[in-house]
Amino acid sequence: MTTPKTSILLIYTGGTIGMVNDPSTGSLIPFDFDHIIKQVPELREFGYELNSIAFTPLIDSSNLNPSVWIKIAELIKQNYEKYDGFVVLHGTDTMSFSASALSFMLDNLQKPVIFTGSQLPIGTLRTDGKENLITAIEIAAAYKNGQAMVPEVCIVFENQLLRGNRTTKHNAEHFNAFYSYNYPDLAKIGININYNYSAIHYPSHTRELEITTKIDTNIAILKIFPGITEQVVNSILNIPDLKGVVMESYGAGNAPTDKWFINSIKKAINKGIIIYNITQCAAGSVKMGLYETSIELLKAGVISGRDITTEAAITKLMFILGKQLNNEQIKLLLNKSLKGELSQ
Ligand code: ASP
Repeated sequence: MTTPKTSILLIYTGGTIGMVNDPSTGSLIPFDFDHIIKQVPELREFGYELNSIAFTPLIDSSNLNPSVWIKIAELIKQNYEKYDGFVVLHGTDTMSFSASALSFMLDNLQKPVIFTGSQLPIGTLRTDGKENLITAIEIAAAYKNGQAMVPEVCIVFENQLLRGNRTTKHNAEHFNAFYSYNYPDLAKIGININYNYSAIHYPSHTRELEITTKIDTNIAILKIFPGITEQVVNSILNIPDLKGVVMESYGAGNAPTDKWFINSIKKAINKGIIIYNITQCAAGSVKMGLYETSIELLKAGVISGRDITTEAAITKLMFILGKQLNNEQIKLLLNKSLKGELSQ
């Protein structure tokens, strides 16, 4: 009896990896999937069954909206039984948002979903795209005793495998474009791929994959800065139909103690708006109550996002609001780590 071939589905959404120069403008624009495959003939050497689905039109990820997350989730659901792993080729600009969103939208995941892309198009001499694509496929196909090595939504980039909802695009120039400041790498990629087993989440039960496709985008970011005016704060907090705000505060979750500021926050919370407090710092955590400048926020009912990234906070809020729960239930979920996006 022959063992079935490892099968990987590549979902190509767009991004620099497959881009070419538009001769009329000189700008980079997305190009078709065959172009990518032609540049990496080595892929055949894997001996895997590699199939692909390309978005039409292909998109620069700066143009992306949640309908793309829904489409990726649906494609994974429709093809889940047929493949051992999934590789999502995606632009780097919003890859951390998409990987975060998908981590929430896919429930009971037992197979790898690996996002990757590149800083230089795959047709260019010094491209990082080839290596990223080959490594992503290798990780998506990695199984031991019937168990996927990484049954999570991840990003592979340069020499790191990262939990998707812990990542941030932190560099627009270097090949190491992504970083996970508050959670260890799931694998270090060098001559070998060294998995960090204790950091990878392995599901304790086998259940059918479920996807959520309801996303509520009635949210905003309020980034605090010295000199922020009452008008700016109130304009944001009074946006019609606003349901949630990711508040990027200073350091350990601190914000001005001015009366007008606290009153505006209280008024918004009394209207039922959820305020999720995260730090502007790349690393570290919100600890409300540590300083006088966060006690009032805590008392007002602001929720701590602890060490969550902006990308994960935004997508988590959209995902939870999409469930149409009451505010107590929403708070409970925001406080909890749903998919390893925050430290307990
Ligand atoms: N603008 C591109 C995108 O996000 C950048 C990239 O892929 O690196 O689609």
